[in-house]
Amino acid sequence: MKATEVLDNLKLRFPHEPEYLQAVEEVLTTIEEEYNRHPEFERYNLIERLCLPDRIFSFRVSWVDDKGKVQNNMGYRIQHNNAIGPYKGGIRFHSSVNQSILKFLAFEQTFKNSLTTLPMGGGKGGSDFSPRGKSDMEVMRFCQAFMEELWRHIGPDTDVPAGDIGVGGREVGYMYGMYKKMAREFTGTFTGKGLEFGGSLVRPEATGYGNVYFLLNMLATRNIGIKDKVVAISGSGNVATYTAQKLIELGAKVITMSDSDGCIYVPEGLTKVQLDYIFKLKNEYRGRIREFAEEYGCEYVEGGRPWGYKCDIAMPSATQNELDGDDARMLLSNGCIAVSEGANMPSTPEAIKEFLKAKILYAPGKAANAGGVSVSGLEMAQNSQKLSWSAEEVDAKLKGIMASIHEQCQKYGKESDGYTNYVKGANVAGFMKVARAMMAQGI
Ligand code: GLU
Repeated sequence: MKATEVLDNLKLRFPHEPEYLQAVEEVLTTIEEEYNRHPEFERYNLIERLCLPDRIFSFRVSWVDDKGKVQNNMGYRIQHNNAIGPYKGGIRFHSSVNQSILKFLAFEQTFKNSLTTLPMGGGKGGSDFSPRGKSDMEVMRFCQAFMEELWRHIGPDTDVPAGDIGVGGREVGYMYGMYKKMAREFTGTFTGKGLEFGGSLVRPEATGYGNVYFLLNMLATRNIGIKDKVVAISGSGNVATYTAQKLIELGAKVITMSDSDGCIYVPEGLTKVQLDYIFKLKNEYRGRIREFAEEYGCEYVEGGRPWGYKCDIAMPSATQNELDGDDARMLLSNGCIAVSEGANMPSTPEAIKEFLKAKILYAPGKAANAGGVSVSGLEMAQNSQKLSWSAEEVDAKLKGIMASIHEQCQKYGKESDGYTNYVKGANVAGFMKVARAMMAQGI
């Protein structure tokens, strides 16, 4: 089947999965030209096989809350594609989680992991359970109940989960603890583990730092430096905070951060001390970004988002479809020269069109935020060797991987006028590796 026929077909079969279709449409429209150059792909019906997940597990997760009441959530794991390595991808706990969202994330993950140069297939899991407002014990009981179901489907050489929205070091620890108990092995299943039990240095920082490294590579193509650049970041979780940390270290001005309640605006740029406060607020007290504004007396807009403020660079690092066409036009009219995505699919298709039309530097999440899963891959390598590498070693490898992803994007995304379409570059590069592996392995 032709790529466009596959897309039409998927639209008929999965009409209630908009995020999944959105992610598939973006990839299929950008790889079509390359795909058509390989008639053997069509004979193997490769595109359809690559778009449909290998398998989906879904299960009920029953757990007891602090009042002694039984709560029920749904849990999922999507094993999308393992042509180049074991399924690999995070677990998301958020009230919005459903099969469509996890299918889009697992699909994206397959291409992202392919770009990292490491042998990892794509997967994703999660639950509509939200840790927000839950006690530590409730979170623990939920994680244990979730893993009691999932453990039998994962393993160090089959499927290696990690964190995502709502799943940080605490949740990974609880899930890994339960996995160990059930599987009776102490191996590399799960990345993002604590340093004391097989975690890697720089894993918490990796997505944010990696995004900044990717941005530096993009800016260098236009001889632009990062110092004094004004950057708008959305989110205030793991990705956003470490992005801000690296940017501040490099002398850039981070003027915004946000959460699902609202947005703070600090025109002079956040200081290191202020960012430390946000870290504490979010990770230790599990508070809201509003409390930062109360402490420091800065502007806070309830329900607000960062895209209306004047900035040179935007780094959406919260969630999918958080930046739409109007936001993109606002950013462009305010002089934004680069957008580098820390979240997965944060820009809507209309926003992406605007960025590409304006020919600004635009990096899609599957390239720019691949640093997180890359260091997960490095964690797996350290676990297999029963060794741990220094922070300098891991950071140097991360820089090298981000540079290589940038190179692959340029190789496949350069247009005749010299402009690099990073969307096309990332999709074609990611696709070609998986496609060749699938062809070589037969049906
Ligand atoms: N959830 C992260 C991502 O979207 C990390 C996945 C991993 O480390 O396996 O890439």
